[in-house]
Amino acid sequence: MCGILGILGQSNSAASAYRGLFTLQHRGQDAAGIVTWDEQESRFHIKKGLGLVSQIFDENVINSTPGRMSLGHTRYPTSGANQLSNVQPLMCSRPHGLALAFNGNLVNYLDLRRRVRCKGQFLFTENDAEVMLAQISLFMEEEAFAFDFEKKLSHSIKSLMQIAKGGYAGLLQIAGKGIAAFRDPWGIRPLLWGEKTLASGEKEYLFSSESSTLKFLGFKNIKDVSPGEMIYVGLDGTFHSEILVSRNHHFCMFEWVYFSNPDGILENVDIYQARTRLGEALAKTVAPYIKSGELRPDCVVPVPDSGRIAAQSMAEALGLPLREALIKNRYIQRSFIMDGQDKREKAISHKLRPVEGQIKGKNLLLVDDSIVRGSTSKRMVTMLRECGANSVTLVSSCPPITHPCTFGIDFPTKDELIAGDRDNDGITKLIGADKVIYLPLIELYMALGKTNLCTGCLTGKYPLNCDEASEFAEWRNEQKEQKLENNMPIRE
Ligand code: SF4
Repeated sequence: MCGILGILGQSNSAASAYRGLFTLQHRGQDAAGIVTWDEQESRFHIKKGLGLVSQIFDENVINSTPGRMSLGHTRYPTSGANQLSNVQPLMCSRPHGLALAFNGNLVNYLDLRRRVRCKGQFLFTENDAEVMLAQISLFMEEEAFAFDFEKKLSHSIKSLMQIAKGGYAGLLQIAGKGIAAFRDPWGIRPLLWGEKTLASGEKEYLFSSESSTLKFLGFKNIKDVSPGEMIYVGLDGTFHSEILVSRNHHFCMFEWVYFSNPDGILENVDIYQARTRLGEALAKTVAPYIKSGELRPDCVVPVPDSGRIAAQSMAEALGLPLREALIKNRYIQRSFIMDGQDKREKAISHKLRPVEGQIKGKNLLLVDDSIVRGSTSKRMVTMLRECGANSVTLVSSCPPITHPCTFGIDFPTKDELIAGDRDNDGITKLIGADKVIYLPLIELYMALGKTNLCTGCLTGKYPLNCDEASEFAEWRNEQKEQKLENNMPIRE
C-alpha cells in the first residue's frame, strides 16, 4: 500500500506536492519521492530517498525542483526490496519521457514481466511499478505514428488495463505534456481528484489516494476517478476523461476499516461516519454477551489510533465509559505497515504504554480496527494483564481476515494471518485474551452501506481471478531466499 499524488497548475507545484505527501505518510513510511517537469529547462527534476517525508525533503530541496507539474509518492513495499532503486516515482525515457507513481499490486506481475522482456526491455528491479511503466512505454511506442496525442495515450492505457490484473491506481507524468490518472477497472484501489481556479483563470488539478490531501490543499469538486477511467490534464489546458475498460466495481473495504485518514470521504462514504457505524454494529454484537452475564465489562479501551472511532461509538451505544488505558508514543511508526515481523514487534512494545490505574482489577473491552497477524493484539493483551487487568475481551471492527490480499495490502500469505487456519478458540488462546469477538461480515456491509465491496481477504472470493497470485508468492519467496544467500537487502 502506498500513497500517490499528482498536481498540475502553479509554477511551484513541488511545494504543494511536498505538503500533500504529509497527508499520505500513513500509507507508506519506508520511502518517498517527488518528480517535477521543468518547462524552462525541458527536463525532469527528481528527489527521492528512504525514510519519512520530513527526513527526505526540506525547503532547499523543494526550491530546487521547479515545475508546473509534479508527482509524489510515499512507499510501503509490497513488491521489490526497500532500496533506493525501487523508490517511486520511477522514470523512463522512451518514447516521451515518462514518470510513474503507482499504488497497488499486479497479480499477474510475472506474466507482464515476461511480456516486457520478450519485447527486449531490460528491467532493473522486481518492482511492479517498473513493469507497468515499461508496458505503458511499449504501448506508446506501438502508437508512435498516431497523430492525436490524447488518443495515443488513451489507447496505451486501455491496452494496459486489458492485460494488467490487480488492484492499482497510477499517475503518469508525460514530459512536456501533462498528467494521466488511471484506476483499475474493478476500482479496488482509491484515487480521487479535484480542481482549483487560479487567479489567472486557469485550472489547477490535483489527484491523490485520499480526499484529505485535496481538502488540505484547498481543492474543490472532489470526486473519485471511476473504475477503469483515465483522466488526462495537459499543461496546455487540455482536460480529457474516458472510461477505458469496464468491470464490476469492488472497492477495498479495508480503506474504511483501517487505512484511510478518518477525515476523508471515499466513494461518497464518509470514513469517520463509517467507523462510527462499525462501532455501533459492534455494540449490537457484544450486547447479548453482556445481557447474558457472560461479560461484565467496566470500560471500553480503544487501541490508538485506528480503533478509537469504533471504540467510542461502541462505548456510547453500550452506555460504558471509554478509557484511554493505552497511550501511544506518536514518534514511533505505524506498526502494521512496517516491513518485517521483528520490526513490528519492537515497534508495538515501544509504541503503546499502559496506564496502570485504568487497568488494574478491571474487566476490559479492548477495541481494535482489525486483527491481522495478531502480533499487536498479543502484545497489548500481555501488557494489560501485566498491569493487573481482571479480564480482557478483544473486539475487532473487522471480520476475521482469513485469506491473503493480492491487491496491495501487505498480508500476502495465509500462514501469516492469525485467522488463516485457526478457529476462534485457537485465536483467543494464541492472543491470550479471555474472549475474542469479531464483527460479522453482514454487519460490515451494512455499516459501510455498500454491497460492491472487495472482501476477498475475509471470504476468499476475489473480484477477479487470482490464480497467478500463488506463482507470484512462490517467486517472491525464491527471490527472498536468493537475497538471503547473497546477503542482499530484502523485505519480509
Ligand atoms: S483482499 Fe481485502 S485488503 Fe485486499 S483489496 Fe480486497 S478487501 Fe482490500
